[in-house]
Amino acid sequence: MMPAGEIVAHHLRVVGIPTAYAQADTTVIVGTVRLCFVEPPAARLSDTTALGTSLTATSADSMPWGRLRTFRPHASLAELVAARNAVPVVVDGDNLPVWAWVPEEPGGTLYIGTDLAADLTMLRQGDPAAAAQRPSEAMWGVAGERPNYLFEARLDPADPFDRPADWWVWTLRTALIEHAHVQADPVLPFGAPGAVIVTGDDDQAPLVDYQAQAALLGNLPVTYFLHPLTKHDARTLARIARGRSVEWELHPDALDAPASYDAILGEQVEWFARLVGRVPRLVRNHGFLNDGYWGHAQAWLDNGIVGSSNLPGLDGRVVNGSLLPARLALDGRLTDHWSVLTAYGDGVFFVKDWTATTCSDEIARMGRRIVDSGVPGVVVFNLHPANHARAAAMHAAVRRLVNEQGFAAMTLGAAIDWFAARDSGRERRGNENILAPRVAFERPVGLFGRMRGLIARLMRPKAVA
Ligand SMILES: [Zn+2]
Repeated sequence: MMPAGEIVAHHLRVVGIPTAYAQADTTVIVGTVRLCFVEPPAARLSDTTALGTSLTATSADSMPWGRLRTFRPHASLAELVAARNAVPVVVDGDNLPVWAWVPEEPGGTLYIGTDLAADLTMLRQGDPAAAAQRPSEAMWGVAGERPNYLFEARLDPADPFDRPADWWVWTLRTALIEHAHVQADPVLPFGAPGAVIVTGDDDQAPLVDYQAQAALLGNLPVTYFLHPLTKHDARTLARIARGRSVEWELHPDALDAPASYDAILGEQVEWFARLVGRVPRLVRNHGFLNDGYWGHAQAWLDNGIVGSSNLPGLDGRVVNGSLLPARLALDGRLTDHWSVLTAYGDGVFFVKDWTATTCSDEIARMGRRIVDSGVPGVVVFNLHPANHARAAAMHAAVRRLVNEQGFAAMTLGAAIDWFAARDSGRERRGNENILAPRVAFERPVGLFGRMRGLIARLMRPKAVA
């Protein structure tokens, strides 16, 4: 049994409604507003495919976030709407209300007739039942267990970049703003429409590759996951990080003995602490190694690992339906471990034979999709130092998202800290590991416009060199 109220309140805090909290398993409170989860009447899943039942958010117009998918039976609120003069917020294919807003004095109640917590968990974390069909062969010709099989049935082959989990949360956020006049904060630092996070798996790369990659990254922050057999020592870590925003985290390698992952992780955490001078907070596994349905999560929690980017999208496909981090819900509780998709990997140049042009076009398109959707997204890139030359175009494309499309740039740790502060109601100000977007300003017109342009230029954060 999932703590539905906790899960929904958590997602609201992630998207800038910090006062949301669960009053009970079936009720969430936001100021004077109550979210009430309606039990579907012994419903059965009719006409539902693996891609779920299509529903529509009434106030989305033609925005992509208005196209919703549920994977569970849902209640019809037609009687409630007729009896209480409620406003439909989500409707089914017959235009019958599934979510409805009932104004009260003060505030009101938003009745939710879908199993929102279950849908969010199924999309974001995959299907536990799929773990029974765990594949034994390597994916993309690379050793290790990619967790993609947990998600594939929910991924729309016609639109692999769709973000159904984020669309649900945005529908909820928008309903609270529009109907209940709830105040919402921007989702990302600087109110940016999107953010990029560059990560790199060490994989024992020669140190000259780190130096060469620094030139390609310019002043983009970067999170490196150190392999236990890294070529680095404490001195070279300091040298590579000098004058830059570099975060060192752990790339656990249990590829030779996946069954002993827990013990191996413990040893590698100790090794990391000796090298870096603190315990690691974040991981991406070498070869991914998901151990069925999040089998490594307990070991992460036991070792104080607060975040992972262990789901590979490779070519930007949003396998978990979300470009926002959230805490894992496991064994009936919301854990303190944050998960975020790795949307892109430099494997596209090897596995999918992407050219530099394909890469530039695809990533620019991803940026525009995020901006046009109006729903902020965080895009994690996995750029191995050893592959920097082959993946030079991906580095350049990431910088263009910051310089031309207004994206912020963060280390993974800064991003997790930003969202965790939101989640716990703490205000977080200033972080040297977050880089402001370089905003594109319109050509100034007239004296007022020229003055505004001058002020804007003076205020403008330094471009990503
Ligand atoms: Zn690796």
